[in-house]
Amino acid sequence: MRTHSAPLHLATVAALALFALLAGPARAQGKVLNIYTARHYQTDEALYANFTKATGIRINRLDGKEDELVERIRNEGASSPADLLITVDASRLEAADRLGLFQPLRSAVLAARVPAALRTAHWAAFSTRARVIVYNKAALKPQQLPSYESLAEPGLKGQVCMRSGGHPYNLSLGGALIAHAGEAATEAWARGLVANFARPPRGGDTDQLRSVAAGECGVTISNTYYLVRLMRSTAPADQETMRALAVVWPNQATWGTHVNVSGAGILKHAPHKAAAEKFLEYLASDEAQGYFASGNNEWPVVKTAVARNPALESLGSFRADTLAVGELAKNAALAQKVYDRAGWK
Ligand code: FE
Repeated sequence: MRTHSAPLHLATVAALALFALLAGPARAQGKVLNIYTARHYQTDEALYANFTKATGIRINRLDGKEDELVERIRNEGASSPADLLITVDASRLEAADRLGLFQPLRSAVLAARVPAALRTAHWAAFSTRARVIVYNKAALKPQQLPSYESLAEPGLKGQVCMRSGGHPYNLSLGGALIAHAGEAATEAWARGLVANFARPPRGGDTDQLRSVAAGECGVTISNTYYLVRLMRSTAPADQETMRALAVVWPNQATWGTHVNVSGAGILKHAPHKAAAEKFLEYLASDEAQGYFASGNNEWPVVKTAVARNPALESLGSFRADTLAVGELAKNAALAQKVYDRAGWK
């Protein structure tokens, strides 16, 4: 196992290395599960503990950034101790799949519980988040902002703040736009959007929300969980930010609001495939779904699961895009080319 730098948790790395040394093939199945994850929330801890309690399967977890985890799995190759990759955004799961990292998902439980539009042959979503339009109430009216497309209208010149076009969240959105409107229309949209920028892209979704609230720009697009995080914050600055903002569910009159996911797949060289499948089935249980989704202010994918999250619920209901996540993710690489041509850096 090669050494790795800061963002990976070294204690876990050591545990995995030790495990790799001690575990012979004969006792590899069933007692332990090695998860590489780009999710690290307090509530996920409870999930891991409950799974171990219910099954006796011990979990070794390696936390890291998506790109580093994927790189690590590739470097480890056939001798990788990793059983599962958990990450966010359909475009990232698709990219990992294109690298041939996953094996087919054969679980009948997952097929029954996770809606078909929220899984592919190789990975499944376990929570959803929506990409919504957020505006400054003092600067703009919701009637000006009914759709993603409306943010490219000339009337919004100098009003739009966005994070990088190359970020997976915007690539997946572009993937959905390409699926619904085509490549040429998506490029025209991106050009219009860039022409409306108040400033060059920088920062994450939360930075855009703060810029909009501060009046640096009038409108942005953000994932819902960043909004809910600010709504639940007790910091006066965050509360002031939220007082200035309002939300529009985009494209309610057309193809619906773009929805993305966090999800997981079983790795091709998983030493503990049965345990990995068992864990994914556990994640799809009503109990785990509530925790898993609420931990990052997201919605469960399983219809019977309940997320007890009043701030999230206060956003209300909306019409979501029904396009399969696997379909939009396939367009993400093309979306990058489209954005490059349109100058969305
Ligand atoms: Fe995020």
